[in-house]
Amino acid sequence: MEGEKVKILVIEDNPEDIALMQRELSRHHFDIDFAISGEEGLRSLKEKGYDVVVADYAMPEMTGLDVLDRMKKENYDIPLVIMTGSGSERIAVEAMKKGAYDYLVKSFDSGWLEIFPSIIQNSIERYKMIKEKERAEEELRRTLYQLEKAQDQLKELAITDDLTKLYNRRQFFNQLKQEIRRAKRLDDPLSLIILDIDDFKPYNDRYGHLEGDAVLKKLAEVIKDNIRQIDSAYRYGGEEFAVILPVTKIQDGVIVAERIRKAFEEIEFTPKVSEDRVDQVHKAVSIGIAELRPDYELRDLVRHADDAMYEAKRRGKNRVFVNGSQHG
Ligand code: GH3
Ligand code: MG
Ligand code: MG
Ligand code: MG
Repeated sequence: MEGEKVKILVIEDNPEDIALMQRELSRHHFDIDFAISGEEGLRSLKEKGYDVVVADYAMPEMTGLDVLDRMKKENYDIPLVIMTGSGSERIAVEAMKKGAYDYLVKSFDSGWLEIFPSIIQNSIERYKMIKEKERAEEELRRTLYQLEKAQDQLKELAITDDLTKLYNRRQFFNQLKQEIRRAKRLDDPLSLIILDIDDFKPYNDRYGHLEGDAVLKKLAEVIKDNIRQIDSAYRYGGEEFAVILPVTKIQDGVIVAERIRKAFEEIEFTPKVSEDRVDQVHKAVSIGIAELRPDYELRDLVRHADDAMYEAKRRGKNRVFVNGSQHG
């Protein structure tokens, strides 16, 4: 390793071994601190950053394995090499299982002082590789997460109307198909509301498309504010909206429709007619409602709600019409 010296903490209780290491390792590019007990070693760890810890196994109060445990518990993420006396391979294996990076047997003829430097370097290299792998895995997880999120957003975009943020026509038919299937299977009621803004073309013609868009947005808000959690609202056409009301009989649907109609007609729009003048205008919706019958297909339900809406128009607009009878 070039530049910075490798910082090593050696935890060793035997003064002779310490002396040996001091003498033999001095010519290497190491910066070695010694601690003579586990506790002292852990204190040193707190005070100074080390690249690697070398801990003797056989120490009176805290073994090298105890040091390893404590380091784990206290979240020291530093590679540890365990040192044992000769004939302690079993301990070495145990240490490796517990997460030690390597081991060193201090037998007189094992040449442990000669291999000490390469054991240190290997441990540091392995540590770096593990960290690099963890980093790469983390990045992969993040990328996958972002991909999933992007997919969700795309899905959401595909079923959302840009202007009003309600669900769009495509989603209307998908959802209605499912709701009809469910209602028939569970023998639940299901009602469908269709709304169309009254005299919207003249409003657009007089005030322009942007002012018209503001009315569409407002109606979307009013609809959302007046339906229940299980209901869902859609922009079904240019200025036509739909609400699916699961588990709802037509007379309860009428209450919802009437609430929306009233709330909307009370809103005062102030479209600009010139730089310094605005009009004060109220708009209204005509609403048709139909309830699912056992013999209805999707198109029948939509047609009946549509027909009811047109009947409301014919009868003077700004009203709710349902199955041959007028409400509101
Ligand atoms: P009625 O009371 O019979 O419904 O009359 P109407 O004028 O509302 O009905 P018509 O179907 O003749 O006109 C609908 C108008 O809705 C036509 C168009 O100007 C307007 N429109 C449709 N989509 C949009 C839109 O996205 N933005 C705006 N600003 N206007 C739209
Ligand atoms: Mg010892
Ligand atoms: Mg229309
Ligand atoms: Mg209209």
